[in-house]
Amino acid sequence: MAAAYNPYENMLNVLEKAAGMLGLAESDYEALKYPERELKVSVPVRMDDGSIRVFEGYRVQHSSSRGPCKGGIRFHPQVDIDEVKALAAWMSLKCAVVNIPYGGAKGAVKVDPRSVSKGELERITRRYTAAILPLIGPDKDIPAPDVGSTPEMMGWIMDTYSVFQGHTVPGVVTGKPIGVGGSLGRGEATGRGVLFTARELFARLGKDLSHARVAVQGMGNVGGTTARLLAREGCKVVALADVTGGVICEDGLNVEEIYQHCYVDRNFLDTYNAPGVIHCTGREVLCADVDLLVPAALENQLTADIAAEVRAPLIVEGANGPTTVEADEIFAKMGKYVVPDILANAGGVVVSYFEWVQNIQSLMWDEEQVNGMLEKVMRRAFAEVWDKAHAHNATLRLGANMVALERLVTAKKIRGIFP
Ligand code: NAD
Repeated sequence: MAAAYNPYENMLNVLEKAAGMLGLAESDYEALKYPERELKVSVPVRMDDGSIRVFEGYRVQHSSSRGPCKGGIRFHPQVDIDEVKALAAWMSLKCAVVNIPYGGAKGAVKVDPRSVSKGELERITRRYTAAILPLIGPDKDIPAPDVGSTPEMMGWIMDTYSVFQGHTVPGVVTGKPIGVGGSLGRGEATGRGVLFTARELFARLGKDLSHARVAVQGMGNVGGTTARLLAREGCKVVALADVTGGVICEDGLNVEEIYQHCYVDRNFLDTYNAPGVIHCTGREVLCADVDLLVPAALENQLTADIAAEVRAPLIVEGANGPTTVEADEIFAKMGKYVVPDILANAGGVVVSYFEWVQNIQSLMWDEEQVNGMLEKVMRRAFAEVWDKAHAHNATLRLGANMVALERLVTAKKIRGIFP
């Protein structure tokens, strides 16, 4: 029987390989194998029926070598500490790849946000914020949205933290609604970053993105936005999947309509119907006959079990950790290009950084400015990763990890080990 998938082991495996290619001594990156802090909290909440439920929550800070820790909060019933540790480490690497002055962190609450009422969700979010209060702050650790969390919830986090401080602190969390210090462009930033990355990849290979056939897994913030932006780019989005399964239409799906159905109206794909649309399994979407596949749901989706059947020659990872180490090796042998998560989905944290910069300086930038700066950062990061990978005859994943690792190790060396 195959060993249970452990995303933290997955992260370490790639880190070791990248370190080996850079010729780093183990002592150079030893500290990066361990999170700086792991906090587990109990979140007691009074439910609408008067009963008390206690939810489990986490906040993990992986590295603060390059700046305050930064990372989203996941609300998901199956989340565990290994997943949060891996996600925190990927945040350190991600911030380093795009060269923004942050370290990495991640948080989570073990709950299905759709299974509780809005009032219950607000009480869970606020109590969780109070529980992790000693760790967070605009100079220490800045949360943001992730799977299952929304801008509205970020507003509750900002308010709860501010109440404890006695004054309004917008810079404690990013991904907030615009009315309380959110940045224009943040809502679409991760998907927009995926689009910029796909553009760079296609351009490097002499291909035209605007004529590409595309499949996207995930109809949430990242998948839904990516699908819309790719459709607006001219791509034919032929296959989409969410947790309930997939839909396929050879002539191209009506992405705007599906986005409205799934993301805005909070329905699932299994209840979406339109002429020419065929319902299928999520696996069929991942294996669809397309030029570009964007896994944008969860980790551990492209496994060894499915890799040989994946037909897309180009994969851009909207989700964190969607490809296992084994599947990655199979893709490399098949000659596929995989733009790794820590580069491809970094648009969200880049605009989170812009939001934080605006908050702490009381500035307000327009959307054009934000999108323009995001494009510049993503293009520069892509070029650095592409060049590094080619210089070492390595995959883009190893290229990205090498770029990140060099920056993290440099910062660690400059700062030294205390005492
Ligand atoms: P979300 O909660 O908005 O959406 C998740 C989507 O994935 C939903 O459509 C859900 O139905 C689908 N899904 C869940 N399990 C599935 C399964 N087994 N098969 C197919 N579909 C499934 O989450 P999101 O914010 O879009 O995040 C998606 C991924 O992108 C995560 O890996 C997250 O860590 C990563 N990410 C998010 C951001 C961000 O800004 N939101 C930034 C960087 C990376």
